[in-house]
Amino acid sequence: MSATDTEIASSELADEVQEAPLPAGLRPGRMETDRLARRVNVAEGRERKAITSPLTGEVIGEVPLGTAEDVAAAVAESRRVQRRWAQTPVKERAAVLLRYHDLILDHQDEVLDLIQAENGKARVWAFEEVLDQAITARYYARLAPRALRPTPRLSAMPGLISTREHHVPKGVVGIISPWNYPLVLAISDAIAALVAGNGVVIKPDSQTPFTALRAFELLEEAGLPEGLVQVVTGPGTKVGTAIIESTDYVMFTGSTETGRTIAAQAAGRLVGFSAELGGKNPMIITSDVDLDRTVEGAATACFANTGQLCISIERIYVDQSIAGAFTNRFAKRVESLKLGAEQEYGPEVGALASKAQLDKLTEHLTDAEEKGARVVAGGKPRPELGPFFHEPTVLTDVTPDMAVHREETFGPLVSIYPFTTIDEAIEQANDTEYGLNASVYTGDAKKGKAIAARIMAGTVNVNDGYSSAWSTLDAPMGGMKQSGVGRRHGREGLLKYTESQTIAVRTALAEKLQTPGTDPAGYAKRFSKIIRLSKHLPR
Ligand code: NAD
Repeated sequence: MSATDTEIASSELADEVQEAPLPAGLRPGRMETDRLARRVNVAEGRERKAITSPLTGEVIGEVPLGTAEDVAAAVAESRRVQRRWAQTPVKERAAVLLRYHDLILDHQDEVLDLIQAENGKARVWAFEEVLDQAITARYYARLAPRALRPTPRLSAMPGLISTREHHVPKGVVGIISPWNYPLVLAISDAIAALVAGNGVVIKPDSQTPFTALRAFELLEEAGLPEGLVQVVTGPGTKVGTAIIESTDYVMFTGSTETGRTIAAQAAGRLVGFSAELGGKNPMIITSDVDLDRTVEGAATACFANTGQLCISIERIYVDQSIAGAFTNRFAKRVESLKLGAEQEYGPEVGALASKAQLDKLTEHLTDAEEKGARVVAGGKPRPELGPFFHEPTVLTDVTPDMAVHREETFGPLVSIYPFTTIDEAIEQANDTEYGLNASVYTGDAKKGKAIAARIMAGTVNVNDGYSSAWSTLDAPMGGMKQSGVGRRHGREGLLKYTESQTIAVRTALAEKLQTPGTDPAGYAKRFSKIIRLSKHLPR
């Protein structure tokens, strides 16, 4: 159960809503979040949950808590609309995405306000989400007409049997998303599922519902049929479970622990499932790097999105010949990172998203310090900036008995380890149950590629932390080992939302040649000849 779910389960919920203070200046205002909350597909009169901004602790709105009945109604309605949508030509479906591409860029200021208000991140990282949406919408709008076109397949008897592979939408796709990227992780998978001809029922994380609601509103403005996407807010254990029990495919992004539970449920129903889960991502720095470039890259790789990024770096392995110089410069740069709660460009690091996130970071940091780790940058909470602010923090002298050594912190905390040989660095980088993302900084790109190929992670970036691989939307993105099942992005990220259907048409001539009829011996002779000749065909 996620922290937010635990909060929802609290019996103090109703009081919390009544006693919630009025917003004191965060954008958007309460009128806008109330308007968005009315778009949630949940019956009237349900219990409600207050949504508190991690930037200031203010209540920015409230949403109803859905039930299994709400999910059943949402799936039925999405299914009804989907039947027509599946018959809509792919080009028309793609055109909706291209209009959404423009709308999300046009409305970026209000979307950035929403992301910041409900997640707490600095505006520059909220902008990354908007950017990602636009390129994802464009990518799938361009890919879908090509990738979904029926593909001729080679039959055993070319010319006698004409076979095509068709891609049929799954039906209604269930999406369960986390709070750390309220726009990207709620909408990007939906974009691929929708253009493939599916309906979508989504449960955004309980803490971050408003961004998703606004984005789906923009998709409707772009031409998506009303009712095709249904948003049901509420606890994962109730709403999430009901979604898995009633949809035709499940896409989950979140923790490895929850991923295991959901995988078991999907397996029980024999429906497809893919998941992007946790990570403890390594960076390897060789001795020949440009230090300035590497320090800047590492700062972004570790502290973008306040370190609450599944693909951000939490372990740095640096060649011991430059470990001192790198650590000093990196610590200096990290100390210079600007923290702030402003809903403007400027701050480089925002708030952590919740008390649970701050507690986890504090727990890892305290445990490491008590066992002898050294804090070389940061190390302190910053409550004067907002309730969940914490300095980006760098540790050295981390040992295997410390929790931070193996466990995902999912916050602005990174450990530096010197290495003597590259084999040792690779072995340590791979010594983890996770395999989501990795980074190699080196003065020689060829060497970088060779090191990358030996790291067991779904994406590896050379001379970058994460964005090069992530933004290559044409390439699959996902986790090895405990970091995931399946992939998003690329053709795979689209075709997983379809069933392959093979349609084979047999000609009259084939009927004559390929049927034993009353002369099985003649048939065997004839057929042997055809098979021998077929070997000489080019394919
Ligand atoms: P979480 O697994 O607790 O929650 C994610 C979503 O699942 C939420 O919407 C939650 O309400 C729902 N949920 C919780 N329990 C459920 C259940 N039993 N059945 C159905 N749904 C349920 O994860 P979190 O703590 O909110 O998110 C942080 C984690 O997500 C980190 O481990 C991070 O690495 C991972 N993450 C991975 C990626 C990726 O792309 N690989 C991206 C972002 C976050």
